[in-house]
Amino acid sequence: MAALDGLPPLRDVIQRHGLDARKALGQNFLLDLNLTQKIARTAGPIENHTVIEVGPGPGGLTRAILALGAKRVIAIERDARCLPALAEVSAHYPGRLTVIEGDALKTDFEALAPGEPVRIIANLPYNVGTQLLVNWLLPKTWPPFWESLTLMFQREVGLRIVAEENDDHYGRLGVLCGWRTRAHMAFDVPPQAFTPPPKVTSSVVHLEPIADPLPCDVASLERVTQAAFGQRRKMLRQSVKSLGGEALLARAEIDPQRRAETLSVEEFVRLANAL
Ligand code: SAM
Repeated sequence: MAALDGLPPLRDVIQRHGLDARKALGQNFLLDLNLTQKIARTAGPIENHTVIEVGPGPGGLTRAILALGAKRVIAIERDARCLPALAEVSAHYPGRLTVIEGDALKTDFEALAPGEPVRIIANLPYNVGTQLLVNWLLPKTWPPFWESLTLMFQREVGLRIVAEENDDHYGRLGVLCGWRTRAHMAFDVPPQAFTPPPKVTSSVVHLEPIADPLPCDVASLERVTQAAFGQRRKMLRQSVKSLGGEALLARAEIDPQRRAETLSVEEFVRLANAL
């Protein structure tokens, strides 16, 4: 199938550059440009934005983001084998694609496009996806440097990100995301959409920052969620015992017989502030 952007089909690109997928780098490539465009469109308008992409690989999602008109794309890729393929994309869109060879976990994202409106879009390597998300949720200042995050995760992780109270998937990640963002599941992507197919279904999740989240110290929120969800089946009087137990719960006006899973984000914030 000829590509819509005039560049060679991704299957040819992968073959020509010998980009056999490496499991250790979480490489599951998307070759369907309709699907990559659907992911890019989920981010919202990008014409005036710098888009930061993690793990462009052979460039399928990168091409979709550029074809949809992103002002600029900065892509961070760890696998040097992908750089020649990405250089071809860069040549096709002069001045709009900057590729940085490096580890996203060691990248200072805030310094990449200071003062510019930024959206982050990525089909993330599964082994580093959650850590990157947490880093983006805990930047030096809030509101953050990004306007949105549109990210592919394993469906299980996606469910944890968007989970609210009284949901089996609700936990520390759901509280953190619910405190600072509005997060929703955009759509699922079946294993066979990837080359090679992963074992499980994936989901695209979209998050936008809440401008003024409830005031709360991050470290305190992490301490209470860690304790509460560390023993999620137990009553709070037991699970938060080491943090003050019933006295702490009384200060936060939370019934000690409740379980972690039933507390709203607002109640977790109250608990953290009562520490
Ligand atoms: N965006 C491409 C696509 O959708 O087809 C590739 C996605 S693949 C799931 C993940 C990509 O992230 C791979 O290209 C891999 O080399 C890259 N990667 C893995 N670990 C990385 C890291 N720590 N920093 C930057 N890129 C990484």
